[in-house]
Amino acid sequence: MQKKIMVTQSSMPPFEEYIKEVGDLWESHWLTNMGEKHRKFQSVLEGYLEVPNIELLTNGHMALELTLQAMNLQGEVITTPFTFASTTHAIVRNGLTPVFCDINSETYTIDANKIEELITDRTCAIMPVHVYGNICDVEKIERIAKKYELKVIYDAAHSFGEKYKGVGIGNYGDASCFSFHATKVFNTIEGGAVSYKDPNLGNLIYELKNFGIHGPEEVSAVGANAKMNEFCAAMGLCNLRHVDEEIAKRKNIVERYRSNLEGIKGIKLNNLQDGVQSNYAYFPVVFEEKEFGASREEVFRELEKNDIYARKYFYPLTNTFSCFQGIYDVNQTPVALHISKRVLTLPLYADLALDDVDRICHIILGLKDGKKS
Ligand SMILES: *Cc1c(COP(=O)(O)O)cnc(C)c1O
Repeated sequence: MQKKIMVTQSSMPPFEEYIKEVGDLWESHWLTNMGEKHRKFQSVLEGYLEVPNIELLTNGHMALELTLQAMNLQGEVITTPFTFASTTHAIVRNGLTPVFCDINSETYTIDANKIEELITDRTCAIMPVHVYGNICDVEKIERIAKKYELKVIYDAAHSFGEKYKGVGIGNYGDASCFSFHATKVFNTIEGGAVSYKDPNLGNLIYELKNFGIHGPEEVSAVGANAKMNEFCAAMGLCNLRHVDEEIAKRKNIVERYRSNLEGIKGIKLNNLQDGVQSNYAYFPVVFEEKEFGASREEVFRELEKNDIYARKYFYPLTNTFSCFQGIYDVNQTPVALHISKRVLTLPLYADLALDDVDRICHIILGLKDGKKS
C-alpha cells in the first residue's frame, strides 16, 4: 500500500531536544502564567522576527480577537473573504462589522486599489491578510490608513519569518497577528503572537489574555484566557532552532513543483514577489477547467484516489458561510469567488520527498485535456 500524503505534516524537533527543554519544568512546577519558557521564547522570537514587541497567545485567533478588543474599536472593518474563518470571526465576535473587499488576482491578498471606495464614516480599521506567504501591498495600505486615520491589523498567520524590503513583516501596520498552529510553517503545537508598535496596546493585550487582571486586587477589563503555556513555549524554543533549515527545504520543494508544472496551459502558479523574503508556506495552484481540461474538483478527487490529500484553501469564502447566511453579498468579491472555486493547495512540508512531488505532478498532468476520468 502506498503511504498517505497529507497536505501538511507538523514540524517537530528531535525528541531528546524537547525533553531536555521541558526538563526544568519538573523542577519548577511552573506550567503556565508567563513562566520562564514564556519569557525566554518571547524575547528570542522578537529577535527572530526583528520586531520591537510581541505578546504570546494560545493561538492566532486569540491574537486577532484580543488585538481588536484592545483597540476598543467600533463600526466597520475592511477585510477580505479569502481567508480562514478566524479573520472574519474575530471581527464579528468583537461586535464589529466586516466589510469585504475583493482580492488581487495575482497575490490573492486584498486589492488595495479597491479599499478606498469601501471607506465610510463608520470605518475604523483595515484587517488585511497575507495569503500563502504572499505579502499585501503594505505601502499602499499604510498610505490609505494614514489618510483616513484607520488602524491596520494584519492577519499574518501565513507569513511567519517573512521580510519585505529587508524589514520583518511584523513591523507593518499597528499590529500583526501570527499563528503557530501545528499546520503552519512554524508551530508551538497551538500558539500565536501579536507584534505591535504601541507599548500601551501590548500592556492591554497582556492583561486581556489573563482575564483582564490588572493587579492582585484589580480586574480592569473583560478579558479572556489566552495565555501560552510553558510546554508550548518550550516547543517554540525548539522549533525555532530548526525553522530556517525547514524553510530552505520548503523552497526546494516549491521549486520542484514549479519545474514540473510551469508553463502548462490552464494552470496558474503563485509567483514570488519582488522584495519579499518568502517562507514558502503554501503551494497554491489555480485550475482553469476550459484550458486545462480538468476541474479543480477532478484534480482533488484524482489525488485523493491516490491517497494524496490536497486542500481547497480558501474555500468556501467566509462571506458565504452558513452562519452568515443572507448577510453578505458574495458578488461584491468576484475575484475571490473565482479563485476560491479553482484553487488547490498541494501538499507541502519540509520532509516531503522530491520523488513524491514528481508523483503528485504526474498524477495532475495525467488529467490534462481530459485524458483520464
Ligand atoms: C491559521 C490561521 C488563523 C488562526 O490561527 P490559529 O492559530 O489556528 O488560531 C487565522 N488566519 C489565518 C489566515 C490562518 O491561516
